[in-house]
Amino acid sequence: MKTDLHCHSTASDGALTPEQLVLRAHRNGVVRLALTDHDQLTGLPMAAATAESLGMAFINGVEISVSWHHLTVHIVGLNFDSSHPALIQGLAEMAKSRQVRALEMARQLEEVGVICAYEGALAQAHGRADLLSRTHFARYLVAQKKSANVRAVFMDYLVDGKPGFVEHQWSTLEQAVGWITQAGGVAVIAHPGRYAHDESSEIALIQEFIDCGGQGIEVITGSHSKKQFRTYAEKALHYGLYASCGSDFHALNESKMDVGKVPMLSTFNPLLKPVWEIWQ
Ligand code: AMP
Ligand code: MN
Ligand code: MN
Ligand code: MN
Repeated sequence: MKTDLHCHSTASDGALTPEQLVLRAHRNGVVRLALTDHDQLTGLPMAAATAESLGMAFINGVEISVSWHHLTVHIVGLNFDSSHPALIQGLAEMAKSRQVRALEMARQLEEVGVICAYEGALAQAHGRADLLSRTHFARYLVAQKKSANVRAVFMDYLVDGKPGFVEHQWSTLEQAVGWITQAGGVAVIAHPGRYAHDESSEIALIQEFIDCGGQGIEVITGSHSKKQFRTYAEKALHYGLYASCGSDFHALNESKMDVGKVPMLSTFNPLLKPVWEIWQ
C-alpha cells in the first residue's frame, strides 16, 4: 500500500491547498496519507474529506517545531485526535510566536534593502500571519529577484549569521511529544539525518525522545540520501523504534520527492516495523 506520512499544504508552507495535495497524492497512487503541516491543524478537515471521497485512508498529522539545545528539531505527530485541547492550545501559542518572529525577520530584511518584506511574505502565505514561515519569506525573496530559487535563498538569507534569521524558542521536546501522545497520537522524529549534530548528541536526542514517550523515526524521507535510508533503518531497529516514511513534499519546483513517490519501507527493509502497525 503506497504510503506518504509527511507532506505540506497551504495550511503551512506547501504550495497546494489540502484538496489539491490529496488529489495529487491520489493520482500518484497513494492509498494511505497523512498531512503534516508545520504547527498547524487547519488543513486536516478538508484533506480528510477529500481523501474520504477518493477512498484513501487519511491520518491526521502535524509537524511540530522543537527547540532542543542549540538545534531546531521537527517532531511529526500522527493519528491523533485533532480536537484535543492540550494540542490545540500548544499549537495556538506557537502560531502567536511565529507572528512575532516574522515581524523581526522582516525588519532585518528591510535593513538590507528588501522592500515590503512583511507584506510580501504575508501575501505568499495567502494572508495567514499565524503560519508565516521562512519558506514564505524565501518565495518573496525569489519574486524580488534577490536569489535565483528557494534553495539559494537559504544560502544568503534566513539562516544563522545571515539577514532575516531570528533565534527562536519553539516548543520543548517534552511539550511536543506530550501534546501528541495526550491526543492519542504517535510521535515520530522527522528527518533525523538533517540535524547538524554529532553522534553523541543524536543518541541523546533519540534517548530523550523515547523517554518523553516518542515511538517512531523517519527512515525514508525526501530529506535523506539513499545512504541515510540505510543508516536510519539500522537506527530504527537498534532503538526499537517504529519506522515512518514520507516525501516532505512542499512544492513541485522546490521538493526533492513528489507526494507519494516514496520508496516502500517493506521492500527497503522487511525487518522494519512500520509506524501504522501501532494504530491498525
Ligand atoms: P520555519 O519553520 O519558519 O523556520 O521554516 C522552516 C522551513 O523552511 C522548512 O520546513 C523548509 O520548508 C524550509 N527550509 C529550511 N531550510 C531550507 C533549505 N535549505 N532549502 C529549502 N527550504 C528550506
Ligand atoms: Mn517546510
Ligand atoms: Mn521538517
Ligand atoms: Mn516537513
